[in-house]
Amino acid sequence: MTHREKADMLLRRQYHCSQALFGAYAEDFGMDLQTAFKISTCFGAGMRQGDICGCISASLMVLGLAFGFYDAQDREQEMYGNQKTREFMEKFRQRMEGEMTCRDILAHDITTPEGRMVIKQAGLILKNCPRPINHSIDILDEMLAEYGREESSIAGAGGHWPLEELSDQEEMRAIMKQNSKRNLFRRNVSELLFSSRQSIAFIQFDIRRFKIINDLYGERFGDEVLYYIRSQLKKICGRRQYFLNLRSDVFMVVTEFETEEKLLDFVHLVENTISVFKNVQLQFSFGIYIVEDKNMERRQMEDRAAMARKSAKKDVVSHIVFYQTQFKELLYSRKFIEEGMQAAIDDRQFKMYLQPKYSIAKSRIVGAEALVRWIHPDRGMIYPNEFIPILEENGFIRQVDYFIWEEASAFINRCVGAGITDCPVSVNVSRIHLQDDACQKVLGEVIAKSGIPKELLELEITETVNDQQISRKAYELKEDGFRLLMDDFGSGYSSLNILLETPFDVIKLDKKFIENMMVSDRGKLILEQVVTMAQKLELGLLAEGVETAEQVEALRRIGCDLVQGYYYAKPMPPEEFFALLKEDRNI
Ligand code: C2E
Ligand code: CA
Ligand code: CA
Repeated sequence: MTHREKADMLLRRQYHCSQALFGAYAEDFGMDLQTAFKISTCFGAGMRQGDICGCISASLMVLGLAFGFYDAQDREQEMYGNQKTREFMEKFRQRMEGEMTCRDILAHDITTPEGRMVIKQAGLILKNCPRPINHSIDILDEMLAEYGREESSIAGAGGHWPLEELSDQEEMRAIMKQNSKRNLFRRNVSELLFSSRQSIAFIQFDIRRFKIINDLYGERFGDEVLYYIRSQLKKICGRRQYFLNLRSDVFMVVTEFETEEKLLDFVHLVENTISVFKNVQLQFSFGIYIVEDKNMERRQMEDRAAMARKSAKKDVVSHIVFYQTQFKELLYSRKFIEEGMQAAIDDRQFKMYLQPKYSIAKSRIVGAEALVRWIHPDRGMIYPNEFIPILEENGFIRQVDYFIWEEASAFINRCVGAGITDCPVSVNVSRIHLQDDACQKVLGEVIAKSGIPKELLELEITETVNDQQISRKAYELKEDGFRLLMDDFGSGYSSLNILLETPFDVIKLDKKFIENMMVSDRGKLILEQVVTMAQKLELGLLAEGVETAEQVEALRRIGCDLVQGYYYAKPMPPEEFFALLKEDRNI
């Protein structure tokens, strides 16, 4: 039975949403249903006092069971757990389009008797709650898959059972049976780690392009492939070698070995044995982690093998990759950023820099772009490329962007105060904002607080896959009176399509795009056509990353007048830009 089916059944049996959701998972962690129900009622009800949807409380408990830390010294695990929590919240927010509270979902207040009455009479729980429950399960399953607790492999191993016919006890027994393989594997591995005098390796592998195999030959064939691999691993793995089909096409083998050479021989043996099935060639990505400290948490060892496997997927030279400490360093730099980001906001370590935009013809400043810098007390200046991707993943970018929007508005206000009303400042709007409603509200507040005309705060949105939701949001922002700039035009995706869908005022040509186009006659022709197109569509056009006099000349010739780049000026602190601007305006 899948987690979804279990939760649905429990909800229909009138358990609360948090009980249904937590109950669907608790057994995977060896917790009995009764205990799970007891904890989740109180915990869920407690969370509801703050109006939070019970699915969130239950999901966080599931994540706690999987990723929580119990060793007070284990900061790495603590960080990891926190990161997983943020990841869940972010995904939930996105899928629920910002609906996070019971009141949002049920449209009534379940904590009051009147609210409860309406909810009961209209049957709103069964109507509205499956949506957050199912979203939560999808997200949790995705996240838990890392540790092989995914339900599909549990259900897949022994087939499905008819729901109605099973009593709670039978259900329990069946789940236990499905789980036993997994538990046995984990027990064996623990025993091996405890007793072995040899070295031990965690080998994780998956099938390259397995999805394509499924698409090409059908899912049944895909299932046969997996069955074949399982049966071959059973034959290959000898004493003190254990394997588990973690989830769909991901396998884990844990083995003792004498030398690295022999370990590689073993990996090649596995690979050669399973490389062809029914004349279809299969390719694999192998990640290997050699255990250094047998007392380390087993989950961390699995994690490291997984990191190596993921790296092998990207590696063009070798499809077998050993875990290296660089992976950990990457994790540490992430940890550094995640640990420091809140303090950075609180202590105002984030700073707004401004980079001028020029008109070639007028040879005058026509605006600026606000770019964030992190001035760290120990590390000095940290550039956005190092931290923005991480903050976008964990959602913290919202706060950073809000801060920059405020700073930019205050700066514009200062310019207006000095009589300069023709120097708009553009701010970057991370894609994440375009998926929720808070962004408009915050922009409204920022504008109200600074009292500046809206059109002076321009919004840069990065061109991206053509997404209707984003186009809709862009329309709303445009209707609100903001000017929209399409950032990084030509750097990827379907630029022309998005022009059709979204009402931009200006396109910013990406630095790489310009560079690539300038090297050939054909490229120059394309660039000229883009300029013509922009003129016909009455769109402004600005070239980014202009570094040389030749580039300026070439852009001038084809009719692209607006530029931004090191040739003119690098991003600078607002004070410096203000002085430059005053000089430019002869004030
Ligand atoms: P972007 O929006 O495309 O910003 C332009 C980047 O190009 C800036 O890098 C700028 O310093 C750099 N640049 C400008 N002129 C030149 C040039 O002539 N040559 C070269 N090589 N580079 C030039 P920066 O400031 O490091 O920002 C990198 C990216 O980080 C930005 O790319 C933007 O996507 C993101 N970012 C920066 N600040 C923010 C922010 O406040 N919020 C959000 N969401 N993203 C931001
Ligand atoms: Ca930008
Ligand atoms: Ca850009």
